[in-house]
Amino acid sequence: MEPIDAERARQLSLFRPLGYQRNSCGYCKSDNGSASYYASSVSVRPVHYEELVNRGWRRSGTLYYKQNLQRSCCPHYTMRLEASAYKPRRDQRKAINRWNKFVLGPEYIRRAAYLCPKTREEKKHRKCNFDLHDAVHAVEYSNVKRPTDPKTKRSLEPAHRFEVNLEGDTVSQAKFDLFRKYQTKVHKEDVSKWQTKDFKRFLCSGLKRSEPNGRDVQRRIGSWHQCYRLDGKLIAVAVLDLMPNGVSSVYIFRSYDPDYEQWEIGKLSAMREIAFAVEQGYQYYYMGYYIHSCQKMRYKGNFRPQYILDGELTAKLNTRPYVSLSRDRATTATSGTEANAADNAEAEAEINDEEVSLFALHMPGVLTVDEVKKLDLGSWPLLIHGSFVHMSDLVGWEKMPIDEPQSIKGIVAELAATLGPTVMKDSAVVLFD
Ligand SMILES: [Zn+2]
Repeated sequence: MEPIDAERARQLSLFRPLGYQRNSCGYCKSDNGSASYYASSVSVRPVHYEELVNRGWRRSGTLYYKQNLQRSCCPHYTMRLEASAYKPRRDQRKAINRWNKFVLGPEYIRRAAYLCPKTREEKKHRKCNFDLHDAVHAVEYSNVKRPTDPKTKRSLEPAHRFEVNLEGDTVSQAKFDLFRKYQTKVHKEDVSKWQTKDFKRFLCSGLKRSEPNGRDVQRRIGSWHQCYRLDGKLIAVAVLDLMPNGVSSVYIFRSYDPDYEQWEIGKLSAMREIAFAVEQGYQYYYMGYYIHSCQKMRYKGNFRPQYILDGELTAKLNTRPYVSLSRDRATTATSGTEANAADNAEAEAEINDEEVSLFALHMPGVLTVDEVKKLDLGSWPLLIHGSFVHMSDLVGWEKMPIDEPQSIKGIVAELAATLGPTVMKDSAVVLFD
């Protein structure tokens, strides 16, 4: 077995397995409705993070988790769009046009039409074509034309100064204040629940950021805050994870002010993020997860074309909470009916899932115990008290049962099954410290 030198160590993502747990659901507020596999990490390589996202993992600060969609009251589906294929719907175009009108204001629009008139061709082109990039950037203050008005001898100013900047995911008092107000108003949480350090852990301690370097990093990567300011006041922060090939929307918190409700900020920010992905050359846009039972998220299903939610799945989600199209097809092929899948699910619901091995749960998107046995768990690096060893160096490793969730091999096998073979190959496990 190869020893792990400093160069190899730098290439490894580190994962501390926390195991499978049931928790209260943030959406329907049921006590233990949501079940996920958890791991924590302070060091995940962006390429690994992208692989994990594609396997249904999410991140909350340094906590990484993959929900068991089959055994959760409000399953979180990952949604992915091919950014350049996105076609804005009528209601989406309308939302952005309304916002742009609001930012400019009627007085500005009237005077600007007079002072810098558009040619007939420009008007016609605008009427028949909606350009997402134009629409997104048109009313950013630096792009707004401000000719001198001969009547007032002053420059013509829009009604509002609107600015959007991509900044590092650091904490500021303004962000924390906005976040706390949002959580208490929108999610009905107690104001004392959130201290600066919790906020920092949740949304300000993401992936390490890197700028393009012309070698291995082609585009910006890491965790960023896209900050929206209106008249100098912070009104929304979109937390974005930039990955080698995709932009992932982690969270957005915004002004709770009822004045802003009418602007559909969720829609506007998604369009801006898709435009950003295309402009910067990222192939995919991940909309954050989708919960079909959550009315507030239904708008996400209208961003198309996208993977996962096109057609068939939406119809099925209306009849039952967990749907796996591949499982349904397999069941239909063998038994000719989908009812069997529901029967099996009912039988499985009887299991107390915190007590059994992850493998007994048949969690969707996780390797089976036989698949894990084919991986070389024994040579997986283990970080103990600052130095690397291999799993097989542990006393009694060979004899440890793989499907016993309390044994070290059982713990490590569950982690491997959930991470998948690609990430496992270049990662190390952190245990005992
Ligand atoms: Zn729920």
